[in-house]
Amino acid sequence: MTHHPSRRELLRLAALASAFALPAMPLGAAIGGPRGTQAPGFFRFSVGDFAVTVLSDGHLETPAALLGANAHPAEVARFLEAHHLSSEINLAHTNHALIDTGEARVLVDVGSGNRFQPTAGRLMANMAAAGIDPASITHVVLTHAHPDHVWGMLDDFDDPVLPDARLLIGAAEAAFWLAPGRVDQVPEAMKPFVVGAVRSLEPVRDRLELVEDGHEVVPGLRMIATPGHTPGHMSLLAESGGQALLVTGDAANHALISFQRPDWVFGFDADGARAVLTRRRLAAMAAERGMAVLGYHFPFPGVGHVLAEGPAFRFLPALWRWQ
Ligand SMILES: [Zn+2]
Repeated sequence: MTHHPSRRELLRLAALASAFALPAMPLGAAIGGPRGTQAPGFFRFSVGDFAVTVLSDGHLETPAALLGANAHPAEVARFLEAHHLSSEINLAHTNHALIDTGEARVLVDVGSGNRFQPTAGRLMANMAAAGIDPASITHVVLTHAHPDHVWGMLDDFDDPVLPDARLLIGAAEAAFWLAPGRVDQVPEAMKPFVVGAVRSLEPVRDRLELVEDGHEVVPGLRMIATPGHTPGHMSLLAESGGQALLVTGDAANHALISFQRPDWVFGFDADGARAVLTRRRLAAMAAERGMAVLGYHFPFPGVGHVLAEGPAFRFLPALWRWQ
């Protein structure tokens, strides 16, 4: 005798079927923007004995076409589409590391303040939300002098936001941006970058400590030369208790492309070939040594690990934890 499903069984099966049914039509890649104010952007974790807080300065929007300046535009578009990213706008987050070593509090970069894009300039507000007194910051490490990294140096009254912190920058970086007459030597599109860098750095020029590759900021924190994106770009390596965090700055500027397509030159890289070499060197080092990395422009909080994958790499984001 055949089994006739009861009405209850049929309803149960129908419910299951609809739960697993997939729409026949693709729904599109877009996840809409926020519908209200978001929570403050800070994230804490530890590296050995060091307490690290990632502070967001907000996000930036740049043309997606810049993501693979030396690649075929169709190839870049294909990559972006396959990863559900806009082929028009690159949405770049801005993740500042604040590393508390116990003896020092070291902030990496000062964001763009109110001088660049309206979606950024939230660093100091997020620092306040994280309960961190700006006066407690002992050192600022500047990775490079692009707008989103140094234009926040001065407040609305043109006073330095961190008047007492020591300011460290690569000697080659300062030499490049602050060279007399530099604005006349760069292409038209770069002139605002030079004007902005000078405006941000000149008022604190006598405080700038010009450093070289390997400079020890405090025990456990070392600046390493990572040129290419800019002539004197530097990254920061934090090491404590057998753990390590590599704060890349913009030496790796996209969580997917910088690793999966490390040879693609970013439109803002000053020296593309050099930037590629630096990017590969950092990715290989992080993968080999199991270091955590923090990318300034990766999706917040921008922390994760790097996996070597054939001739390239992959970024594995760390999982958010509440405790
Ligand atoms: Zn940047």
